[in-house]
Amino acid sequence: MAEIACYVPTLKVAGHDFKNDSFDTRQWTGLCMVKDALERAGHEVDFCSSATVSRYRLVFVSLTSDRSIWEFWRERRTWEPGEYRVAVGGFGVLNPKVLLGLCDYIQLGRGERTSVELADAVLKGHALHGGSVIHVPDYSEGEEYRLAQATEPYPHEVVQTVRVYKEGHIGCNHKCAFCGYSWHRVHVGGEFRNDFGGAHIEQERAMLDLKRSGWADLGRLRVTALDGSSERIRRMVNKPIADADVEELMARLCEGKGRSVKLFNVVGYPTETIEDWRDLEEVMARADARSEPKDTRVGFGLHNTPFRAFPLTPMACSPMAYREYRLMFGAMAPNLPGKMFFSGRALYGAEDFGCDSLAATAMSCMVWRGHEKAADTIRRLALHDRFWTAPSKVKLATIESVCDIRRMFEAKDPADLPTSNIRTYAKVEKLYGRYRDLPPATTGARR
Ligand code: SF4
Repeated sequence: MAEIACYVPTLKVAGHDFKNDSFDTRQWTGLCMVKDALERAGHEVDFCSSATVSRYRLVFVSLTSDRSIWEFWRERRTWEPGEYRVAVGGFGVLNPKVLLGLCDYIQLGRGERTSVELADAVLKGHALHGGSVIHVPDYSEGEEYRLAQATEPYPHEVVQTVRVYKEGHIGCNHKCAFCGYSWHRVHVGGEFRNDFGGAHIEQERAMLDLKRSGWADLGRLRVTALDGSSERIRRMVNKPIADADVEELMARLCEGKGRSVKLFNVVGYPTETIEDWRDLEEVMARADARSEPKDTRVGFGLHNTPFRAFPLTPMACSPMAYREYRLMFGAMAPNLPGKMFFSGRALYGAEDFGCDSLAATAMSCMVWRGHEKAADTIRRLALHDRFWTAPSKVKLATIESVCDIRRMFEAKDPADLPTSNIRTYAKVEKLYGRYRDLPPATTGARR
């Protein structure tokens, strides 16, 4: 019988139709890669749930975001007690200090690089510690750890029920200053391109690459990313998409049929003002003016995400704006219907409802910048049912009452970061000064 299992979370799949949704389709691809690597090394590996976890000696858990850590506290209280060891890894695993009470091992970076050695040690009754694997009882602030890297895409196909996944590239060919996707992984393989599994027609393409390819893919484009409302802001964060390029993209899209295109955007960067938001309106107005009027217009759905100072990126020390951004972009144009901020003859722009509340940003900030005290607060709040189901305003008021969250949003000295002993492949620390002493944004609604 297998002694190792990969954990399938319950909360992640709330609302799924279990009749039509099999156990392993609810797995993260990265964790399936870990399972594949373990099996190729001769280990038998199952999937497990909270009800079956106690049958195993080593359980791998994927935490793919800061939110996963909050959710995992709730998951763990449903687990059958047992003698198992728990190893967490994934994109949400960067700050060991908020994970110390939650698991036995922390795997930093590419899990398929460290899982076999970890499994071999645990099954022999030993502990593995150092480099990219932290054995929690041996964690030390004075010790350096680093994100495991891969030098080539995972060479094997990973079979999941709904698809066969083959990794084409790792990381991104750009280096936007706020982006963990790029700074946490050495880029190997082709350009960043998310085909959403290949079975869908949607594609997310970095606009920088779209331009480089001569806008060739616009027929299939449904999603792309600006990641900054103005050219000034985008240049500041090393994502040099010129306003003229945004205008060109919009005007070209207006040459085709009316349709919707989603624009991912980041708001609340240091130095951002309302003028940066107005810049996008003006670009839309110029693209509209050079396009033929349309019965069915091209709609640009702006999906805003409040800026987070992500660990191990050049902006890790930057001030974050303690402001509410949800539905604030649309509020710039109160005379337009819904959350529209621009309405022309050929195109319109509207903010979508997906922007994180300040409460959600505060919960992220606690994970990325919290030390041991914040870890205890996260645990207590996560396990508090009334907090979990409360509206965002109540959540925020609760967070404000139990920790100095505003202070966490302020610019940080590198030594004050809880991740100061974690290294990525690049010397990001050298770039901290460039983004640390900037004033916080004045956009959004003040709290
Ligand atoms: S924000 Fe997008 S384009 Fe920029 S580095 Fe990250 S993945 Fe690449």
